[in-house]
Amino acid sequence: MTTPVITIDGPVASGKGTIARRLAEALNFHMLDSGAIYRAHAQACLTRHIEFNEINRLAIEAKALSLQFSGEDVWLDGADATDAIRSEAVGMAASTLSAIPEVRAALLQRQRDFSQPPGLVADGRDMGTIVFPDAALKIYLTATAQVRAERRSGQVARQRVAAGETMSAKQLIEKGQSPTIAGLLETIRAQVQPDVEAQIRRRDSQDKSREIAPLKPAVDAIVIDNAAHSPDETVVAILRLWHLRT
Ligand code: C5P
Repeated sequence: MTTPVITIDGPVASGKGTIARRLAEALNFHMLDSGAIYRAHAQACLTRHIEFNEINRLAIEAKALSLQFSGEDVWLDGADATDAIRSEAVGMAASTLSAIPEVRAALLQRQRDFSQPPGLVADGRDMGTIVFPDAALKIYLTATAQVRAERRSGQVARQRVAAGETMSAKQLIEKGQSPTIAGLLETIRAQVQPDVEAQIRRRDSQDKSREIAPLKPAVDAIVIDNAAHSPDETVVAILRLWHLRT
């Protein structure tokens, strides 16, 4: 019997990571965060100062990648790289390197190896089109770039406040905000939103326009625009689709 696979593809900040993880928990399936593999490869190449035109070295690095997952943590070359690979600079480098066919070929089997009983939820850009073309259920999650940028800049604001960033009550009032944590979060979110949206549009455009494995829904994918839905609502909708098929 083949291992059941659910693929969740979509653009930057479409919520696919959160949704895939919750689905995997609900179904007790394994989880593949394929973006983390491309990010780890980019991080390893940056650390080793491999130029982006050294195709052979980039492919060798992809084959030899020393990578372990432990829950949501990612270990690269024996060290915790969970936070390091999440920067937008590494995301953009991953987007550039993942457009190289030799790199994709070198990372393909590593992704397929995640398909183990009792099942797999795989998140990425080409899970339904290339890596698991026979997946039992294919989802393509999306929302407008503006909605995704709002979400991502909200995350950035929460991280900055958690890291100690603050403003005086006077500054917040001058910016038309209430002098509360909510006002502080909204002020930081609004400040970072234009840059975050520009980054999202740049990476989307690079991922959609590449020749190999471009970001697009598989022909048999169900497209879900989740702009107006909470993660819980989206998970429930996908579980319903899954149970209809099994
Ligand atoms: O999903 P995440 O933002 O972590 O992915 C980082 C980059 O890795 C993406 O922008 C994309 O270019 C690349 N990627 C890919 N194929 C995948 C997953 C990610 O090309 N299956």
